[in-house]
Amino acid sequence: MKSYVFPGNIDADIEKIGSEPIPYMRTAQFSEMNKESEKILLDLINCPNGRTIIYTGSGTGAMSAVVENYVTTFDKALVVDGGSFGHRWLELCDYYNVSSVQFKVPFACDIDYKALEETIVREKVSVLLCQHHETSTGQLFDLKEISRICKTHHVSMVVDVISSFLAEEIDMDALGIDICITSTQKGLNIPPGLSIVFLSDKLKQYKFNHSGYYWDFDNNLKNLERGQTPFSPATTIFIQLHKRLKQLEKDGIFKNIEQVRNNSKIFRDAIAKYGWYPEAETPSSAITGFQINEKSENYLFKKMIDLHSTYIMPGTRPGFYRVSHMGLQSEEDLLLLAEQIYKIVNQ
Ligand SMILES: *Cc1c(COP(=O)(O)O)cnc(C)c1O
Repeated sequence: MKSYVFPGNIDADIEKIGSEPIPYMRTAQFSEMNKESEKILLDLINCPNGRTIIYTGSGTGAMSAVVENYVTTFDKALVVDGGSFGHRWLELCDYYNVSSVQFKVPFACDIDYKALEETIVREKVSVLLCQHHETSTGQLFDLKEISRICKTHHVSMVVDVISSFLAEEIDMDALGIDICITSTQKGLNIPPGLSIVFLSDKLKQYKFNHSGYYWDFDNNLKNLERGQTPFSPATTIFIQLHKRLKQLEKDGIFKNIEQVRNNSKIFRDAIAKYGWYPEAETPSSAITGFQINEKSENYLFKKMIDLHSTYIMPGTRPGFYRVSHMGLQSEEDLLLLAEQIYKIVNQ
């Protein structure tokens, strides 16, 4: 089986942990391990004096947590809606009765930063919610530009880096980001099941709201101070997360970013021969999203599984496919993948 989805093919040492006995979690060892995971996570995103919350729950759980605990403390939010994940912020704001302004970005396009700034000023928003990489299209937004605008107009910045963490450089402190979120099955490329909230040190004394029992920031932060979780953690994935973080600490984050970039380059060069290009105006290295003509809905997707036991991701538009570059993949794999896709499409 080859997998170019989230997660992609996983490191064997990490996979092996999934078949091992599950230790009891209310122990000093589990606490120490989590405290070390927190430290490495904060170093990787350059927010060494911040805090993290590691939830058992998918990325959307962390998005919901941020809206419940933090965004509800503001009068008005601006949401960058550049695809299905941006749109999710908007739905969460509606769900929790937060007044929000939709800043729509066309499919696979970059933000018009001047228009964004004008909207922020006109609408007098106090918090901005965006994605770094809109995974539904492959578009990477310019966090430096967004940060400059937010700093100028004193707008709090919340960024979903779920699919850019470890694929792109992110310096949370330098960008002045208040909250970032990620989840285990994307850049970390370990099994799905955990999501992580990064809180900047500016929020140390912040009065968060208490409008979601399971996701309550204060309750989770209090428990994590001693390396524990308020409710049963997905113990195995916490252990896999720690193992992965130790690998990243040893190798350095830039090696990972470089690897993802290199994977994307090999694949993009290979499909360019067939006339396919990333659809995004500024593509992230995390995925390649490209448009093909296909015979019937999800034809390529189904054929790739039937013929090659290989998973790629259909997109939100017919014939728009996404290949993730975050899992383990060799040059040979990527060249073969491009060729297999070409053959199926032109059969
Ligand atoms: C995958 C993803 C999510 C949602 O995460 P789930 O783990 O599926 O809940 C949110 N935002 C972005 C940018 C994503 O790529």
